[in-house]
Amino acid sequence: MVTGEQRHGRERERMVAEQLIKRGIVDPAVLEAMRSVPRHLFVDEALRDRAYGDHPLPIGESQTISQPFMVARMTEILKFTGREKVLEIGTGSGYQAAVLSRVAARVCTIERIPRLAARARQTLEAIGASNVWVRAADGTMGWADEAPFDRILVAAGGPSVPPPLLEQLGEGGRLVMPVGPEDAQRLRIVDKVNGQPNVTEDSSCVFVKLIGKYAWEA
Ligand code: SAH
Repeated sequence: MVTGEQRHGRERERMVAEQLIKRGIVDPAVLEAMRSVPRHLFVDEALRDRAYGDHPLPIGESQTISQPFMVARMTEILKFTGREKVLEIGTGSGYQAAVLSRVAARVCTIERIPRLAARARQTLEAIGASNVWVRAADGTMGWADEAPFDRILVAAGGPSVPPPLLEQLGEGGRLVMPVGPEDAQRLRIVDKVNGQPNVTEDSSCVFVKLIGKYAWEA
């Protein structure tokens, strides 16, 4: 008999092979994290059969858990060695934070909707991700008490990179964020070199809105 866990394990293997490796994700640590984090636990029970599909899924409050490829791509862009302290803006379900927890030393993640933050905290605890700290707040302000960060991942789209995040990015650090109008953004990569932001543009994407003091209005 095949148990649910075995079935989900096979679905993850297939997701990694067909959605990630075929599309050029190569970082072994990222592939291993995507192979091991139980994505189905980050969606509603009714959606578990679709958890490993090639798309985002609703997580309530009009928000979504990102497509697996986008989670892997943003993680790979940040080039982790395992020693980094990372800040994520837009915890949502907590899935991206769980992936980050396997490639970084410590994860601080901020969600503006308290109900989502509370649920993500529970799921992360249930899977034993003990190096993740979840906070309910406006992430466009960053997390000053924990700064500087070696890496920053913004999981929602905004008109520009919020200045507090640039300030809280450490020297030699890297930030990735979807930047652009509501219906079409591009991943923007910012490296901090000698205190100056060095900006490159990556692929196009569509994310839910980043809402806050230094982003869109609610
Ligand atoms: N990383 C998530 C998916 C993110 S969806 C996952 O793996 O499931 C984007 C999330 O960003 C939403 O939950 C939304 O509420 C949140 N968000 C939007 N603006 C924010 C802000 N200013 N600060 C923190 N979170 C924000």
